[in-house]
Amino acid sequence: MVPVQHNYNLKDAHTFHMDVHASLFFEVIGERSLDQLRSNKLLREKPWVILGGGSNVLFTENVTDPVVKISIPGISVRECGSNTIMVKVGAGVNWHELVLWSLDHGYSGLENLSLIPGQCGAAPMQNIGAYGVELVQVFESLDAFEISTGLMKTFYRDECAFGYRTSIFKTELKNKFIITSITLRLHRNRSDLNLDYGDIQNVLNDTGIRNPTPRDVSNAVIKIRQSKLPDPNQIGNAGSFFKNPEIDHHLFKELKRTFPEIPGYAVGTAKVKVPAGWLIDKLGLKGYRNGDAGVHDKQALVLVNHGSANGHQILAIAHHIQDRVQNTYGILLEPEVNIYP
Ligand code: FAD
Ligand code: NAP
Repeated sequence: MVPVQHNYNLKDAHTFHMDVHASLFFEVIGERSLDQLRSNKLLREKPWVILGGGSNVLFTENVTDPVVKISIPGISVRECGSNTIMVKVGAGVNWHELVLWSLDHGYSGLENLSLIPGQCGAAPMQNIGAYGVELVQVFESLDAFEISTGLMKTFYRDECAFGYRTSIFKTELKNKFIITSITLRLHRNRSDLNLDYGDIQNVLNDTGIRNPTPRDVSNAVIKIRQSKLPDPNQIGNAGSFFKNPEIDHHLFKELKRTFPEIPGYAVGTAKVKVPAGWLIDKLGLKGYRNGDAGVHDKQALVLVNHGSANGHQILAIAHHIQDRVQNTYGILLEPEVNIYP
């Protein structure tokens, strides 16, 4: 039996490293812990806070609802074809360890998603993405435990409403299911790697690599990320605090008149995605700090805890940024991070 723990310190269970406690803490490590969840009255009375690696959450208070930490292990190859393989992964497996496992076995598809913190079970939540690749491109299905009924359900790709940093699990089904495993389709012997994004090609050129392997791409992504993103073990953060806004084409044209250098990426014909980090940086807020809460000095989209900031102090910085961005550009920045309560 996995014990229910009381007054559990969440400081090391999330990457902002706030000093907050959970009244009840329970770890799900397999089928038997799901049975315990089905039957434990103490846990069933309240809604749960589901926690993976805690790299996309901000706690502003102690948590009075039970925190259910997902630690289901296991990576297994399900089906092997000549060009692809299907791999089923427990929700508790660390995402980057899966990426490294895939490269060690000669499978590609995950290399651009190297070094994203967190666990595999959370990856579908916001359809994790980086360097021009999103989870949806390799996703087949997931298994999930329905909290209200205790029943298991399989969701296939078309049922997950994947979008830009979102899915049905971040919207209408939020907190209704525990994702217990994901199944991905990876490639064998694939040569069409995605090198177009940002600095990947430059880093490969600098290292003299002409015909990169998936491992080379992964190494390039790791190098770029380590050069500009704060390591959560050194400075508390949850990655990009806001989503990049997708604005109307006409507003973008107007902004371009005032800010000729504003970057934008077409999304279909009507919308343009604008890097939120650029908007914030342009306001001079990179490196801004109020006590121990601040904006990272190399990437303005990342809010940081320099030591003893609490969730409210981080939120105050977030609101300050939202106000300044709204007043200057007429754009409302939406948080990407999941804020509790
Ligand atoms: P948590 O933070 O624990 O949870 C996130 C949300 O998912 C919560 O709402 C939680 O309730 C829910 N959840 C977690 N596990 C489950 C489950 N098994 N079942 C149901 N719900 C669940 N994200 C990107 O997309 N791209 C990036 O490039 C990227 N870079 C980052 C860089 C840094 C330095 C940091 C700190 C974060 C970055 N992120 C990025 C954000 C984050 O790493 C991802 O969103 C990641 O998938 C979160 O995983 P987690 O296990 O930590 O989830
Ligand atoms: P960057 O390369 O400086 O680019 C800034 C933004 O412009 C990115 O967020 C990206 O949007 C957009 N962009 C750049 N080139 C693009 C292209 N060719 N096509 C479409 N959009 C483009 O970004 P960065 O901050 O160093 O991050 C690099 C990658 O890691 C990005 O994909 C970013 O999303 C991801 N990342 C995510 C988090 C997180 O917590 N969510 C944290 C760190 C890094 P996209 O975000 O849509 O790619």
